[in-house]
Amino acid sequence: MPPPYPNTNENYNMSTRLLGRSPRETVPRPFLPPTLRHDERFARAIVGTGLVSFDALLSEDDPPVFLIERAKGTSAFLLTCDHAGREIPHKLASLSLSEHELSTHVAWDLGVAELGRRLSARLDAFLIMHNYSRLVIDANRPPGAPDSIPTLCERTRIAANEGLSSSDARKRFEEVFQPYHQRIRDELDARSARVCPSVLVALHSFTPVYMDEGRRWHVGVLYGRDPRLARLVRKGLRSRSSRPQTGCQ
Ligand SMILES: [Zn+2]
Repeated sequence: MPPPYPNTNENYNMSTRLLGRSPRETVPRPFLPPTLRHDERFARAIVGTGLVSFDALLSEDDPPVFLIERAKGTSAFLLTCDHAGREIPHKLASLSLSEHELSTHVAWDLGVAELGRRLSARLDAFLIMHNYSRLVIDANRPPGAPDSIPTLCERTRIAANEGLSSSDARKRFEEVFQPYHQRIRDELDARSARVCPSVLVALHSFTPVYMDEGRRWHVGVLYGRDPRLARLVRKGLRSRSSRPQTGCQ
């Protein structure tokens, strides 16, 4: 009997879990329209049929892993917000943290989603925002790194993440981390195929006080190997900040 779900490389782990196969086994690969390949809703619908046994972390009631604005944006800029959201899968019961703790920078980057939306609108740029808290699994850390699934963030202990089994950690990776990064890869690949230039800008915010130490910077600009854009942004920000402020600010 063929597997009742799209069997692509991306959802391979999910399919092998559904069938109880070992990850090294191969299964037939039926034709699948490209638009469905990474559609998590499809996987959830399969689970919703009740015809398969599936111990997924996310349920149909959980919000989507990521949000996208201006999917057809014409700008070369591709904006990402790794820490835009503070959702927690229902099964994790808020990680036993209070609403106050989950409202602080411990759980997400305050204000970065709005920054992303405004930049996306001004630039007509593709924007992708991760919807789940970094406390579930950090979209900005390599999987397996000590702070990938943090047990301590500044002074907040996340006891629910302590002693996590490899199976539970894997579910967070497969269901919360991987779909977001796969979507970014897909977008970059699609642009390359269309010979469209891409400038990937990762947006973050940082708390003005960390471990009782004030941070005097208003903005930080980081770059990898190519400093050209960072220099231009820094120059632009400096010229703006030297202008006299007007109105109520
Ligand atoms: Zn961040």
